[in-house]
Amino acid sequence: MASAPAKSAPLKSAGLAAKNAKSALLAKGGSKSVEPSKFSDGKLGDGKFSNGTRPSGGGTPVMSSKPAVKAAKSAVRSGGPQSTSNADLLKHPIFDELGFPTDPNNLYRQTVASMLAAADLMNLPHHLQIILAQPKNEIMVNFPVKMDDGEYKLFKGYRVQHNNALGPFKGGLRFHHDVHLDDVKSLAFLMTMKCSLVGVPFGGGKGGIKVDPYKQSRGEMERIVRRFTAAIAHQIGPDYDIPAPDVGSNSQHMAWIADTYSFLSEVGGKQPEAVITGKPVEYGGSLGREKATGQGVVDTLVEMLPEIGIDIRECTFSVLGFGNVGSWTGRILQDKGAKMLAAMDHTGAIHNESGIDAHSLALHVQKTGGVSAFKGAEQIERTEFYETKVDVFVPAALEQMITEVEAKMLNCKVVAEGANAPTTPPGERVLESRGIEVLPAILCNAGGVTVSYFEWVQNKTCHQWDLDRVDSELNKHMVKAAKRVRDARKKYRCNLRTAAYAAALERLQAAYAVRGLFP
Ligand code: NAD
Repeated sequence: MASAPAKSAPLKSAGLAAKNAKSALLAKGGSKSVEPSKFSDGKLGDGKFSNGTRPSGGGTPVMSSKPAVKAAKSAVRSGGPQSTSNADLLKHPIFDELGFPTDPNNLYRQTVASMLAAADLMNLPHHLQIILAQPKNEIMVNFPVKMDDGEYKLFKGYRVQHNNALGPFKGGLRFHHDVHLDDVKSLAFLMTMKCSLVGVPFGGGKGGIKVDPYKQSRGEMERIVRRFTAAIAHQIGPDYDIPAPDVGSNSQHMAWIADTYSFLSEVGGKQPEAVITGKPVEYGGSLGREKATGQGVVDTLVEMLPEIGIDIRECTFSVLGFGNVGSWTGRILQDKGAKMLAAMDHTGAIHNESGIDAHSLALHVQKTGGVSAFKGAEQIERTEFYETKVDVFVPAALEQMITEVEAKMLNCKVVAEGANAPTTPPGERVLESRGIEVLPAILCNAGGVTVSYFEWVQNKTCHQWDLDRVDSELNKHMVKAAKRVRDARKKYRCNLRTAAYAAALERLQAAYAVRGLFP
């Protein structure tokens, strides 16, 4: 289902991280830039505490009394339920303390800023803020692969392990020519928050390979994936770090990873296939995993739309990105009675006021690689796509695509974030000022990791669940998570994104309170 992604604007990478990446790139094939630790000891990713000081013991609140934080907190509160302080918090003192990249458009800075808005509002202790603001381990590998023409090429791979306070690291692998360390760090961070919010016993991780999977032959891609697996085999494991698919990777890639891992018998252990989820059903995959993220988006809409006064059976929607998440969201929403008026991907934008058949469009994308030239709709310009009047707009492509510019064009009542971090903080500010509700990614797209968790449970227990069981267990998790977000919104009087982070942070805080910080 995945089609060739092409970013509209390349993401910028962090200064220091980029320097590290550069020097690692110069290193020998297979070398690792970081020696990660396997213990949840609350240390920052580089193994040092910030400022050289040691955080206080587990559960001891260390309140931040810095003026910028206080100002930001009151900004959140004074604005009532629809306010956000993300733009102000892009200047959060923790960024200086931890030496974050200074570019306000940096994806990692933006995603952490959203979490810090919630952390400040709920008075999360300072030591938890700094622990969660950085990943625990940042692993970079460079590995050589023989290409079809007989020449060797060096590839760069990443695995970032953000946090494992709640369980093993968990998160997808992105295969994209423009993957950077900061992207992977942001996505790993989001996984920690998402798993906590949706109540699965995992922490957060993410990885990737800097490669365009659509430009390699099948044989080359298999060798790249297997060699990458060998390079990180000692850093992952069914009880330690469990990757999954993301943009550019699919169930076939997951099967090669599971197979390679199981061959490395000294690290394989029991149920080696549980080292990865999103596998084909023929090899330990779960029924319902392919559609799970789209199903979760729709489950979230079913829970949240009535509050906004929208009937899902009669609503209209548009979708940005018609890959796995976008196409399944479209198909399932349509099956509930909703009507898709417009869709856009890297090949173009299409529109039909009478409705676009999401099932036929998914088949068209499978055959041709994109939505362009679909017969059941007319081609439109990018701006017309954003301006199409709909009830629900679903961004399901890449990060940072809804900036201030797109937010001003949107003509919808709700943005349901299928993609990770699709809305920039300035974009979100515009949406809020226009009264557009944003259903945040860590809630909306949590269906994928939830069914990945079910797949892992099925592997561990040697069972196969039927589809009804998968769907109904997923729905239970999504309904509970949506309720936790609504409750947090009432408790903290904030917008839904801040509420979702607060609900996620509450669970992490509770875990740290009982675990403490080693030693
Ligand atoms: P995918 O590769 O299947 O689809 C990506 C889509 O984005 C494609 O339709 C592509 O054409 C489109 N796209 C890429 N660049 C674009 C551009 N510049 N303009 C317009 N469209 C563009 O990927 P996916 O698995 O559907 O993931 C999409 C998003 O959802 C990502 O942010 C991913 O991290 C997130 N996500 C995925 C899952 C999952 O289970 N697959 C789970 C949670 C979150």
